[in-house]
Amino acid sequence: MVRVASEPVESGFLAQRLHGFGTTIFAEMSALAAETGAINLGQGFPDTDPPGEVAEAAVKAIREGFNQYPPGPGIPELRAAIAAHQERFHGLPVDADREVLVTTGATEAIAAALISLVDPGDEVVTFEPYYDSYAASVAMAGGVLRVATLRVEGERWAFDPDELRGAVSTRTKILLVNSPHNPTGKVLTAEERQVVADVAIEHDLIVVADEVYEHLVYDGDHVPMASLPGMAERTLTISSGGKTFQCTGWKVGWIIGPADLVSAVRTSKQFLTYVSGGPLQYGIAVGLGLGDDYFDALRAELRERRDQLAVGLADVGFDVPRAEGGYFLTTDVAQVGAYDARQFCLDLPRRVGLVAIPSSVFYADPAKGRTYVRWAFCKRPDVIATAVERLQRLR
Ligand SMILES: *Cc1c(COP(=O)(O)O)cnc(C)c1O
Repeated sequence: MVRVASEPVESGFLAQRLHGFGTTIFAEMSALAAETGAINLGQGFPDTDPPGEVAEAAVKAIREGFNQYPPGPGIPELRAAIAAHQERFHGLPVDADREVLVTTGATEAIAAALISLVDPGDEVVTFEPYYDSYAASVAMAGGVLRVATLRVEGERWAFDPDELRGAVSTRTKILLVNSPHNPTGKVLTAEERQVVADVAIEHDLIVVADEVYEHLVYDGDHVPMASLPGMAERTLTISSGGKTFQCTGWKVGWIIGPADLVSAVRTSKQFLTYVSGGPLQYGIAVGLGLGDDYFDALRAELRERRDQLAVGLADVGFDVPRAEGGYFLTTDVAQVGAYDARQFCLDLPRRVGLVAIPSSVFYADPAKGRTYVRWAFCKRPDVIATAVERLQRLR
């Protein structure tokens, strides 16, 4: 049987709890990009390399024989670098031996945290749209996902505090919060962070804070959830080298938190992957120690790419809600006369030579995201410039 690239496939063997997760939209859309030669603004990966010293440190580790199982919690050099980085950028003291666990990307940190902390029937509350692994990881953990919906209010994405409070019940165990946010680019305001903290403290919840875009805040600075009063003792902070050092293929992530929470996460991590790739950990350890100039330049660069794509999108008739951080912009295709983002995205490669992602895949209820499309701007300036030219064909 011949399958077209756009046809999602779900195996008949799939266990009940994974029904509906099928194959991710990214494989489908990247195949469409390859097939049509379209510019891929779908998946969020940079088209540049990590800094030379970061790459060299990993190569050197391979050449010098660091090729066997590294220590379970991560190599001491990386754990020390993670702790020093958290103190340097966010003023948060971290014990590198007891409060840090290196994982296979932030993705494994999220999965391991949920598998370790969630009992069957426990509820996990997050904002939708959400990073697509959240719902699948909650399902794998046997938990139940509850959502509060982010909506465009004026120029930015916002949530209704009452909706967040309403999503929490006596079964809620975890608040899973992502700021800067994928897919919307939203960064929680000080007021919003406080709402999240108040809810967590009032209901005695664990907060799992996905902060992989901590260095990509364009307006203002990143403030970790763990830095709010009363939050350090209940927060697991997740980050990763992928977004910060432009090496999403390396999959070196970490989770930081109180020793007893991190120890719980380690229990499932050790049986998911046992340990995470050793040589690349040496590279990320060097990266975390780079001078401020690296982090400032990265942020300035991505801010420019954001503005470049936002102008292009606005130019063809979109209102573009502000992306205060991250890799993506989201627009409502109803503003250019389309009423189904999935169909819009399937047509886009042949119509204008671009690939984007229909945001409905990031919603628990896809109907709520039916007309939203996510565009990645983490690409070289010339690539964004060509993409912006091609967008003109939408007129
Ligand atoms: C990219 C991303 C991740 C995954 O990070 P890896 O280190 O590649 O596993 C997790 N959360 C969000 C919000 C992301 O955008």
